[in-house]
Amino acid sequence: MLIVMKHDASAEDVAGVVHVIEEMGYTAHAVASSNRTAIGITGNQTAIDSSRFAYLSGVAETIRVTKPYKLTTLDFHPEKTIVRVGEETNAPTIGGEELAIIAGPCAVESHAQAFAIAAVVKRSGARFFRAGAYKPRTSPYAFQGMGEEGLRILAEVREAFDLKIVTEAMNEVQVDLVERYGDMIQIGARNMQNFPLLRRAGRSHLPVLLKRGMAATFDELLSSAEYILAEGNQNLVLCERGIRTFTQHTRNTLDLAVVPALRRISHLPIIVDPSHGTGKSYMVAALARAGVAVGADGLMIEVHDHPDHALSDGSQSLTVPDYERAITEVRLIHEALMPVAVA
Ligand code: PEP
Ligand code: MN
Repeated sequence: MLIVMKHDASAEDVAGVVHVIEEMGYTAHAVASSNRTAIGITGNQTAIDSSRFAYLSGVAETIRVTKPYKLTTLDFHPEKTIVRVGEETNAPTIGGEELAIIAGPCAVESHAQAFAIAAVVKRSGARFFRAGAYKPRTSPYAFQGMGEEGLRILAEVREAFDLKIVTEAMNEVQVDLVERYGDMIQIGARNMQNFPLLRRAGRSHLPVLLKRGMAATFDELLSSAEYILAEGNQNLVLCERGIRTFTQHTRNTLDLAVVPALRRISHLPIIVDPSHGTGKSYMVAALARAGVAVGADGLMIEVHDHPDHALSDGSQSLTVPDYERAITEVRLIHEALMPVAVA
């Protein structure tokens, strides 16, 4: 259930409603927007009797939520969420006016490799560096990532280049480590429904990037997002990275239609990953341009100084010149759309 307060409801009115929710044994999530406060209720397994709230001071209306998610919706939070990555005043944001570019290799492979690519990413004006230290690989014999040593290299990249580090955690212990060395926790497609991991990320002080599962529906993606918000972490960004279909000309089918579909329902920022979304480097720039045109808040792009020698995802990694050209192009599209701000 969602309780919408009157626009002139006082802080005491809100506290009164929260008190009743807690007395019933549930959790209250109050969110104030410019013209009203909404209070979401979680923790109930069955429908809540709205008459308990209808006559409390300051309550405008109660809305029964029939979807499996509520905190992710615009009903609950009518203003778009802007996720700030870092505490400082000029920290980069995702979901605001700037186009967030999260770029880097699939995996950290060495100090030299990470630093060479980070220099390129920095020069492009991107403010986020991506690279996995823990890699979810289909084969157990494939390169699994450098582990904590890789995270230490990422922390050095952060210091040397003033880039925010976005890196994957595949389990709860790895979240502890990413919290120590990184700036944003990536939850990968294969773990979109790893519920203990979602809950752990929901209790983190770091923002979270949640990638859509490769066979996840729209409702499943938002339900997974709900796990994170319900634990208290509001700094969440969704990522469309392609879903598995019958086509064979791409690794995945990048579902760009999910961007406006999510926008319509949710306040969460959405980014597009044309690298995993196509699996083919020659398609990445085209789909990156399309992602910006369709209204994404940012892009995740894999770039490598020697894609032919990459230990993972070389075939979808852009070369340095191709990456630089792609960034120029997507910025032009973003700037062209700025005056009309794609909704
Ligand atoms: C990645 O970002 O390198 C990755 C493994 O992505 P996904 O979880 O989308 O496959
Ligand atoms: Mn990858």
